[in-house]
Amino acid sequence: MTYIQKEPCPIYKKCGGCQMQNLPYDRQLAHKQATVRKLCGRFGKVLPIIGMENPYHYRNKVSAAFAEDKRGKLLSGVYQSGTRRVVPVDSCQLEDEIADRIIVFIRKIMPSFKMHAYDANTRRGFLRHVLVKRGFSTGEIMVVLVTGTPVFPGKNAFITELRKAFPDITTIIQSINAGPTGLVLGKQEKVLYGKGYITDILCGLRFRISAQSFYQINPVQTEVLYQKAIEAAHLTPESTLLDAYCGVGTIGMAASKYCGFVTGVELNPDAVKDAIANAKENQIKNVRFVCGDAGEFMVELARERGKVDVVMMDPPRAGSSKAFIESLCTLAPKRVVYVSCNPETLARDLKYLTEGGYEAESIQPVDMFPHTAHVECVVSLIYKG
Ligand code: SAH
Repeated sequence: MTYIQKEPCPIYKKCGGCQMQNLPYDRQLAHKQATVRKLCGRFGKVLPIIGMENPYHYRNKVSAAFAEDKRGKLLSGVYQSGTRRVVPVDSCQLEDEIADRIIVFIRKIMPSFKMHAYDANTRRGFLRHVLVKRGFSTGEIMVVLVTGTPVFPGKNAFITELRKAFPDITTIIQSINAGPTGLVLGKQEKVLYGKGYITDILCGLRFRISAQSFYQINPVQTEVLYQKAIEAAHLTPESTLLDAYCGVGTIGMAASKYCGFVTGVELNPDAVKDAIANAKENQIKNVRFVCGDAGEFMVELARERGKVDVVMMDPPRAGSSKAFIESLCTLAPKRVVYVSCNPETLARDLKYLTEGGYEAESIQPVDMFPHTAHVECVVSLIYKG
């Protein structure tokens, strides 16, 4: 495949978001391939990594911090790694270009509204962050203005000006975050315009995305990843699928039309709520979601000798738990598909799974986050006993 290649970003060292910008894209892919082979190659065949033809502007979610320098000049961009100093960024090679333009526009119109950036030390000023989410399939755009104080002087005129410049904005939200530092979004939200959420289409299904909810940030590669995961599951209309660590239920719902029944298990109650709403919205009837620890769920399932033919597991970076894997091996479903975002914990878990009777038929790396050091893998496992 030929890949689009741009000059490295001039501020990649200062920003720290792209750990691999010193390498051309094909060399980044070779590096990721070698990493997966080194860590996981002894468990099964590592297939060639799937990269992006155009590995730029793939992020559908963009957040910028706002600050003022000593002379009171407004800045927007990212925190320099490990600090609270804002490195100005007007355009980023990874981020959606419209989102970047919206952020710059907001910064430029702020003075005419006498709007200041919030300073967490003095607790003065107003705007802390701007978060933009865009549904790549639907074109819908959400703008979240994160403010240090609730009172928004000139609110209506500000919204009118923003919408006039970007008619594709479908919702605007104010998130109030008066806390010291840390999280971008506050707990209190006010919908200033529109429905308070956007919708996107992934694998032919509609997903509702709110300011807080989790959604994969590279939708193009997510479809590639899910397709590989569903292929690896070898589903039939009779199969019962367990989607462990299911988030808002995207993989399980995409797989639901190929199998008999899907159970999704997820720890985060908000994600489970979104998953249930998503299933309803898409009129998917052969799926249910359980809120709880995937390990505990698996232990219980093994104790009851519950029916499950295929287990799809997509744990966070720390990997799965020993309890989960032990019970999985006791239950011994014929097929397991492990979707991993961290080859180190994947290697550890594959060791347990192979000791428990599984064999990795293939390991498929997918580049979900070009120019960063991350690499995602889909492992197709079969029970050999
Ligand atoms: N499969 C989803 C999400 C994967 S991210 C997708 O493709 O979008 C991993 C998910 O595991 C997160 O939603 C996280 O909340 C959840 N999680 C973390 N620890 C868990 C646990 N012990 N039990 C169940 N879910 C857990």
